[in-house]
Amino acid sequence: MNSEDIKSLDAENVMQTYARFDAVIDHGNGATLYSPEGKEYIDFTSGIGVNSVGYGNKGLADAVYAQTMRLQHISNLYYSEPYVRLAKELSGRTGLKNVFFSNSGAEANEGMIKLARKYSFDKYGRGRSTIVSLEQSFHGRTITTLAATGQDAFHNYFFPFTEGFRHVPANDVKALEALLDTFASAAVSDGSSAFKPVLPMNGVCAVVIEVIQGEGGVLPLDPGYVKDLADLCAGRDILLLVDEVQTGAGRTGALFAYQQYGITPDVISFAKGIAGGLPLGGFISGEKCSAVLTAGTHASTFGGNPVAAAAALEVLRQLDDDALAGVIMKGEYIKDKIQGWNSPAIGDIRGKGLMVGIPLLSVDHKEAAKACVANGLLILTAGDDALRMLPPLTISYEEIDKGLAILKATLGELL
Ligand code: PLP
Repeated sequence: MNSEDIKSLDAENVMQTYARFDAVIDHGNGATLYSPEGKEYIDFTSGIGVNSVGYGNKGLADAVYAQTMRLQHISNLYYSEPYVRLAKELSGRTGLKNVFFSNSGAEANEGMIKLARKYSFDKYGRGRSTIVSLEQSFHGRTITTLAATGQDAFHNYFFPFTEGFRHVPANDVKALEALLDTFASAAVSDGSSAFKPVLPMNGVCAVVIEVIQGEGGVLPLDPGYVKDLADLCAGRDILLLVDEVQTGAGRTGALFAYQQYGITPDVISFAKGIAGGLPLGGFISGEKCSAVLTAGTHASTFGGNPVAAAAALEVLRQLDDDALAGVIMKGEYIKDKIQGWNSPAIGDIRGKGLMVGIPLLSVDHKEAAKACVANGLLILTAGDDALRMLPPLTISYEEIDKGLAILKATLGELL
């Protein structure tokens, strides 16, 4: 099918929930993509942080093929090797303890929220189930993860949202402390599991953060704030949940970004890049919460699917220390190059590793992204003003140079 046929079938048969760019992608190699007609695009998006090891990756393809021929799915009623090997690898490389596998980021966060509420319920009873998240955060598109998302633009149409979420400004530990104090004084905690009406001011059981807010604008949290927040939570037995859906799987130059902040979360969630393009998500808890979710309390038909798990094992094999160091170096190279342009269109570059936010000062970020696509560069937007780069972690320096040249020329055209 050619590009026009594909676009008209989409218009006729697909719910129009996506404001798609005017590009049809057929195949790729490395970090370069091609339309059905052979138009070339440099990919600074990796499918929104998913194709961590690029396109046409032979190791990934071989792992997927071999596992598909062996066993493509078996329910979680039975044991199988790929998911246990993957869980061991994730525990080993995080120092956390037990893993639950799901399919997507929102589903991972839903499970993490369930775990936090059950931890608190088991220990303190009802009345301590509020989850605090940060303004400008993004945690997913289900009704519950929308409630967790700290952006008013997402709190529309789908009422009623799940109760028990509050948002505080990022980088303001006093604001969090004040909220916790108000809630603590109103909470009821008698250890009883009998039904009681939920109080309007319900005690807090967990705080969820992204250490770099991706969708919100590639906004890194201050390291000092993250440490203070972690201490505050630990002191009150409030779980610290880190949403690593976008920052994880090597994106920032560590396997998970929290590892660059000197904290140990109680639970982290992951998805996107972990299986290099196959749907896999999940969450990993530390020792304290490892036995909270017991048989029958949580499940997912596809969770820990053998093919997705085999893909993730191969991604993790490729994301060794050298590859992660390469992510940091490429990120620095990109920042230095862009800063070297001294462009009046660009503010201070944000982010870590290959999660790069480029705030635009005098050019509309959405118009800029569209113009880049027309010129052969796929690039994302984030927040109110930024272009966002999440290229495959395996992108070559040659591809980076090509993509940056298109970006520079495009911004020049728009100025
Ligand atoms: N959490 C974060 C930090 C994300 O960036 C995203 C997606 O962009 C999600 C959760 C939701 O992930 P998914 O789209 O796989 O449900």
